[in-house]
Amino acid sequence: MKAIKLFEKKPVLSFEVFPPKPNIPIESIYQTLDALKVLRPDFISVTYGAGGSVPGASTAEICETIQNQHSIPSIAHLPCINETKESVLEKLKIFRAKGVENILALRGDRNPNLPPKEDFRYASDLITFIREHGDFDIAAACYPEGHPEAHDLDTDILHLKEKVDAGASHLISQLFYHNADYYAFQEKIAKAGITVPVEAGIMPVTSKKSIERMVSLCGASIPKRLAKLMARYADDPASLKAAGLEYAIMQILELLDNGVDGIHIYTMNNPDVARYIMEQISEEPRI
Ligand code: FAD
Repeated sequence: MKAIKLFEKKPVLSFEVFPPKPNIPIESIYQTLDALKVLRPDFISVTYGAGGSVPGASTAEICETIQNQHSIPSIAHLPCINETKESVLEKLKIFRAKGVENILALRGDRNPNLPPKEDFRYASDLITFIREHGDFDIAAACYPEGHPEAHDLDTDILHLKEKVDAGASHLISQLFYHNADYYAFQEKIAKAGITVPVEAGIMPVTSKKSIERMVSLCGASIPKRLAKLMARYADDPASLKAAGLEYAIMQILELLDNGVDGIHIYTMNNPDVARYIMEQISEEPRI
């Protein structure tokens, strides 16, 4: 199923998982998927080589399992910075063979040890290329606080519009912790003429280490209230996790009240976290 169809029912609720590292058997992700399936997300997206993990063929394989064994639509992430046109064509062929219909087209992060290839400079180039070479539904990433390399948010939004004009049918946002930033972003993109559905990306704070790593990677800011919680429970990981989950639930409920198109939960392959959030938010009648 093409993911864009899911937005006919609003709000969409989706999860993100990542393939296990090469030293971990691929079966571990299948246990995670078994647990996530019962939470009935609208789709599950699968990363590719994100956050320093080693890319492999497993993204397509995991997407196939999500769709065929669990009957849940899936989206395969595809970064292009280290790809050539030939290698992307090869990947599209694999996706097609596995029945993957949806791609999150990304540039990918720069790796100081790996000079970028020249075929795709930006995600918009990849979107154009995929459109020319197959009948895929294409999503793109967006950044409520601006992409870290962008000169400013307005310039980043101009480039976001190029991705939509190239053929991105919906957007998934980078994680953020300040809903006010998201609402301001929504207003700005509407003014820029971007009308496709946008999902808000939520990553619950579950440990000090993980959040510091993510924030340093993506440049998201930490609001005072969350910073205070992190300081208060700096030496108490269980209380920090509980407070982090409550913060995420508060964020999600407020976003839903404000009519967001969807919520994308970065599960970090932790079904317990996803389950707790789903239980809390499904007490509300909206989902
Ligand atoms: P682009 O849209 O190409 O933007 C990159 C930068 O270039 C921005 O600063 C933009 O403003 C600028 N730019 C764009 N077009 C132009 C232009 N024409 N002229 C000048 N500047 C321009 N990474 C992975 O490796 N694997 C994953 O699975 C993965 N999943 C992700 C999922 C989500 C939801 C998000 C938000 C990010 C994900 N990432 C992943 C990280 C992503 O690859 C990085 O954030 C990357 O740095 C930018 O990717 P992009 O597709 O947004 O790039």
